[in-house]
Amino acid sequence: MKKHLNYIDRDAIKLLPKTDLHLHLDGSISPETVVELAQQQGIDLVAVSKELGIGELETGSVEELEKKIFKETYDNLGEYLVPFEFINVVLRCKEGLHEAAYRLACDNFSEGVRYIEVRFAPQKHWKNGFGWMEIVEAISEGIQKAADEYNNTAAIKSGAEPEFKFGLILCAMRMINENMGDYFKYLYELHVGMDLQNLSSMASMEVAKLTQMAREEGYPVVGFDLAGREDGFPAEVHREAYLYCYEQGIGTTCHAGEAYGPESIKSAVKDCMARRIGHGTQLFKKRNIYHKRTDDGSKLSKSQRFDYVRDIVEWIAENRITLEVCLKSNSQTLPEYRDLSGHPFPFYLENNIRIALSTDNRAISRVSVTDEYERAIDLFNITEKNLKSLCIGGFKAAFFPGSYVEKRKYIHGVIDFYNKTLEEIKATNK
Ligand SMILES: [Zn+2]
Repeated sequence: MKKHLNYIDRDAIKLLPKTDLHLHLDGSISPETVVELAQQQGIDLVAVSKELGIGELETGSVEELEKKIFKETYDNLGEYLVPFEFINVVLRCKEGLHEAAYRLACDNFSEGVRYIEVRFAPQKHWKNGFGWMEIVEAISEGIQKAADEYNNTAAIKSGAEPEFKFGLILCAMRMINENMGDYFKYLYELHVGMDLQNLSSMASMEVAKLTQMAREEGYPVVGFDLAGREDGFPAEVHREAYLYCYEQGIGTTCHAGEAYGPESIKSAVKDCMARRIGHGTQLFKKRNIYHKRTDDGSKLSKSQRFDYVRDIVEWIAENRITLEVCLKSNSQTLPEYRDLSGHPFPFYLENNIRIALSTDNRAISRVSVTDEYERAIDLFNITEKNLKSLCIGGFKAAFFPGSYVEKRKYIHGVIDFYNKTLEEIKATNK
């Protein structure tokens, strides 16, 4: 088979303007940074490991964290989500969040990523004496510090290269538990007897309101997301929060179709009117339609399953709903996609669905944006046209902290830079 992009190597990918729209702050903190922040804050990681029942640490060294917390593979999404509660222990103060956010932005810029949307669950970072706006401010200022440094370089100042920009996305949680921090502990204590779904729905509405408040305060908060365990915790429970965001004009995205089938994606885009989908890996999994029945209560036939999926695919493609695709993460959380050979990536392309190639969790998944592009090029033999759609599609799908006119202007600058850079790469490598 002819390889389309044989002139695009790792170095070339780094030169092209890219985005990362699905990027969790807590999942992108390296073991070194976790250990460093713990030392600065006087936190004993071995004691934390014991208290939370995570990792069974004995020394709390970087090497031990790499082995026991930041694993190479996981059995399922539930297991993949466990280390986050451990990492968040060092992310409950201004200094910790500021430094983590700053380093994350630097990591991205160093591989040619020009626009990021960093997401985090504010309720996981909250503690008595460290409030909502302080959390948003610490993260925002950390990234802004990096942006100011980069945007001060000659190439960007002269207008020859696009600026580094960012937005923040606030996450609500599908499933909550007391290990997630003080907010959730209090929530449980104060609402004795209330079921988990009601509690999480209440908590997600709080996040939606906080998203709006932070925007009004002038922070670059651009979106609302629903994260966490998917099976048994449907998105429609959080419909009220999504509709609130919709009315306020807040960008909406939703983790869906990662550990659950097409019904989960349908709920996200139809019940919650999400503008983007985190993953969407099971979009074409007709077999994994579990609850939908025909009008007479019988199971769907093969052709009805096909139609069910077709309707969602059409809705997504026609409404330009973007899938935030994270290949490495999918290979770690979904055993059937370990080698990614059966990944639906080619079907997304075939159906003209917009993709924003993203990392999910740079540290927990041990991945970079460059890795993801390299993987897509190698595995799915994408064309030059596909590559441009991937790079530019990320900018188009951005929720962007500015007016539409500003966004268009920024994108046009990015496209000019992309075209020029690609020509230079081709002239050098062909
Ligand atoms: Zn995610």
